[in-house]
Amino acid sequence: MKNSPSSHEGRDLERDIIVKEKELEFFKRLLNDQMKELLNQAGSSVADMSEEINSYGDPLDRASIEIDRNFTLRIRDRESRLIKKIKNALERIENGTFWICERCGGEISIKRLKARPVATLCIECKTKEETLEKVIGTQILI
Ligand SMILES: [Zn+2]
Repeated sequence: MKNSPSSHEGRDLERDIIVKEKELEFFKRLLNDQMKELLNQAGSSVADMSEEINSYGDPLDRASIEIDRNFTLRIRDRESRLIKKIKNALERIENGTFWICERCGGEISIKRLKARPVATLCIECKTKEETLEKVIGTQILI
């Protein structure tokens, strides 16, 4: 990771901060866009739902609409969880902890954040967590 000679460290750190400020702007815009998109989707699915229910009288049709609605609600549940995560990530940007892993206090790499801007754990902690989940999952299955 850090292989640069100690004499350049000061300058690297400065450059690092400038790069990070630019990256933060990028992530902020990305997260805001994602949030807007999710809110738009959530808004339109609610509108679709009430329109459909009003325009069908047949009980059979109503049943299939009910299934659709449950499906829509499930998606919206997932959406609202994601919206919460995005809000959390935006807060982390604001208070300067966006790069900090919630578990070990280490740094989350830009590469990882680009793949998953709502990440709150560094790759090491995430890997550990996933391994643990797998172990626990296996135990439950047995
Ligand atoms: Zn960590």
